[in-house]
Amino acid sequence: MSYDSNNIFAKILRKEIPCKPVYEDEHVLAFHDIHPQAPTHILVLPKGAYRDMNDFSANASPAEIAALFRAVGKIVKELGVEESGYRVISNCGANGGQEVPHLHLHILGGRRLGRMLQPA
Ligand code: AMP
Repeated sequence: MSYDSNNIFAKILRKEIPCKPVYEDEHVLAFHDIHPQAPTHILVLPKGAYRDMNDFSANASPAEIAALFRAVGKIVKELGVEESGYRVISNCGANGGQEVPHLHLHILGGRRLGRMLQPA
């Protein structure tokens, strides 16, 4: 499956659509989710055109992979959830419920998040 460069996160990365950014570096952009599921709900994206975790884990460079995870550490510190706790999720494919086909990590925090999975 190829990368769809018209997906909404590709448009945000090209600055065609606005976002509320919280972090940016050479390889990563992070911004507030438009429909937050918790008091803190941030999306962390590689700037490279990677569809999902399958694509990213197979094809991203070590620098891109390191940057994505280092960014999570910086963001949770900056947003004050490092000590209180948080959850990092990446949905992949149909069973994962991925809606936007550009790899992103969700950071959720700011309240007790409860069980990891709700009944389907
Ligand atoms: P996923 O189901 O993992 O693909 O998650 C996609 C997420 O993107 C959802 O939580 C949406 O609320 C969020 N989202 C969709 N459009 C935007 C947007 N324009 N700005 C910020 N977040 C968005």
